[in-house]
Amino acid sequence: MTGTEPAAQHIDTTRPHPARVYDWFLGGKDNYPVDEQLGRRIAAVDDGGALRAARANRAFMHRATRALAEDGIRQFLDIGTGIPTEPNLHRIAQSVAPDARVVYVDNDPIVLAHAGALLRGTPQGVTEYVQADARDPRTILEQAAHTLDFGRPVALSLIALLHFVADEDGAHEVVATLVDALAPGSCLVLSMMTADFEPENVHKGIAAYAAGGVTLVARSRDEVAAFFEGLDLLEPGVVPVDGWRTGQPPAGAGPVSLYGAVGRKP
Ligand code: SAH
Repeated sequence: MTGTEPAAQHIDTTRPHPARVYDWFLGGKDNYPVDEQLGRRIAAVDDGGALRAARANRAFMHRATRALAEDGIRQFLDIGTGIPTEPNLHRIAQSVAPDARVVYVDNDPIVLAHAGALLRGTPQGVTEYVQADARDPRTILEQAAHTLDFGRPVALSLIALLHFVADEDGAHEVVATLVDALAPGSCLVLSMMTADFEPENVHKGIAAYAAGGVTLVARSRDEVAAFFEGLDLLEPGVVPVDGWRTGQPPAGAGPVSLYGAVGRKP
């Protein structure tokens, strides 16, 4: 493991953290009362939207990772990994390709504290965890290069991450810097929040997060597509995550307010 060791990190249980609120929505145990309170506040006003989105997002991560591993990609850089939730990305990738190499990155000390579960992979493969901030892509690339060969294709996944990074905070520059470092044949996997389908509920959710001190941004379909400039979008393009290569999304479940897409570097 690289980065600051757990003992030096402080887990702040006085305010909600995105990784822990998301863990609560997924039914995990690695969250605190402040996180659960915010989760419940959101659930009370958003018509189940955050819960649907969290589950559908996880399933999107599974499908996209599997598709890229089946397509021959053997290296994965996953930024904004979250608290381990089985199956994690390396399990999916290594179930297709036991020799897959995976680097996980998150900036939340609670993810570091639970990183052990992210590091148990196949004997043939490698998994590594880097504690770093997505807004510092050069450090991430430097650290990841100990494990990944950037001369060969890498699947870069920023799944449910970029709604925590506003355009003003350099979201586009971060993606451009990372994609720039990738070899041809590499892929970018994104999912992020949108207010295109249920604006009222999403804005209530954003307000609840804001009251908890967490800034979230929603992006339109075109704004999401803009992150893929210079890349070839794979079918079916930018769609709600529950519609990405699933055939028909489950009827009657309600909209999922996260767009997902995968692009390949030519
Ligand atoms: N990718 C996982 C988890 C998404 S939750 C999944 O889709 O299931 C979002 C994660 O992004 C959280 O773990 C949070 O700690 C992390 N995150 C938010 N802002 C970040 C930043 N600036 N740098 C690194 N990680 C960040």
